[in-house]
Amino acid sequence: MAKPKTFEHFRDVQDELGKSGAAIFRDANGVESLVIDSPYSIHYIHSYAEDSAFFLGLAENKLLGSRCTNPGCAFLYATPRGHCMVCGSHTTWTELPKRGKVHSWTTCLFGSEAFLKETPYNLAMVEFEGAGSLMLVRLKECTQSEIYVGLPVEARFAPDPNYSITDVWCGRVR
Ligand SMILES: [Zn+2]
Repeated sequence: MAKPKTFEHFRDVQDELGKSGAAIFRDANGVESLVIDSPYSIHYIHSYAEDSAFFLGLAENKLLGSRCTNPGCAFLYATPRGHCMVCGSHTTWTELPKRGKVHSWTTCLFGSEAFLKETPYNLAMVEFEGAGSLMLVRLKECTQSEIYVGLPVEARFAPDPNYSITDVWCGRVR
């Protein structure tokens, strides 16, 4: 049996897996990893519990954050939290602005199953006006060289939501 072909981009590895079932991925440091096609199936029932409103909001093109109900605190979280990490009070849902700016970002050459087909993809920590925490979100519609700290971005929502974090991403402000 011939040795699997070697690739430097994971997308090419994925293509090869569809053809031969095995490939070698050589990373930026020259480390080679044998990758094999190993399908499995699982039926998973998942409850979002207290985070449910966030995912229901995405389906309505809304970004919902959590605001501390203590008037003396009122900290606004850009990702769901049932309780304030500053003072411990309950939080309430608050719609975030759709526009923000890139606080930091990275390019992912590998990802979990839901994102594998998009690799390499850009992942950003985004600042929203008034929010004291950052949202980790995919950054699409721009190339690696176009991204910089402070880049104005806006949330985009999947036209056919499936109630997962893939329902939202950010793109450059149009
Ligand atoms: Zn608080």
